[in-house]
Amino acid sequence: MNNWFTIDKIDNSTYIISEYRHWEETHCYLLIGSEYSLLIDTGLGICNIDDIVKELTDKPIIAVATHIHWDHIGGHKYFPNFYAHEKELNWLSGEFPLTMDQIRDMVIDRCDLPEGYDVNKYDFFQGKPTKILKNNDVINIGNRCIQIMHTPGHSPGHMCFWEEKNGYLFTGDLVYKDTLFAYYPSTDPELYLKSLERISTLPVNRGMLTVNGVFHPHSA
Ligand SMILES: [Zn+2]
Repeated sequence: MNNWFTIDKIDNSTYIISEYRHWEETHCYLLIGSEYSLLIDTGLGICNIDDIVKELTDKPIIAVATHIHWDHIGGHKYFPNFYAHEKELNWLSGEFPLTMDQIRDMVIDRCDLPEGYDVNKYDFFQGKPTKILKNNDVINIGNRCIQIMHTPGHSPGHMCFWEEKNGYLFTGDLVYKDTLFAYYPSTDPELYLKSLERISTLPVNRGMLTVNGVFHPHSA
């Protein structure tokens, strides 16, 4: 548990919480505002990310995922106040297009699981968001405004998060290192390209990926 998460500081009120023991190397981002803290993606949900978040902020947490894939919503169970995009609400209520067995296989694939962890207890998070997001909505956490950019392609309700003040762009699975592999039937390459074109016009100082890994077709 103690070495499951790695914390990196971007600035005094922005942190990266990473899970390097899974091959995808997922990164979650904590943005601390004067009223709330926003957690962008909550990771695999294998260890309790809330323990880490509490060490970094005492503000109430709003959780949001760039999209509804297991490696981005695993920790949502710790954050009852979470937002989701209107196009992926059905994936939070029983209509995700993969079985639990398929998901568990990908969770354990090249993952250095904590000792004694029982993957059969791994669940795909389901729930009802406290707020439904759409393109260009703004989340104001106090002194920081984060704009939603609906960027479908990797998934129908994929969002990037744009903080103009700092020039930070949180890109989720729209952009990551290496080959972009479109592995779901719900993936749309044309929309993917349009989304990339859209974000490429932003004056970004720093782009933040949420996974580093390359997805291999054998496990799709
Ligand atoms: Zn994804």
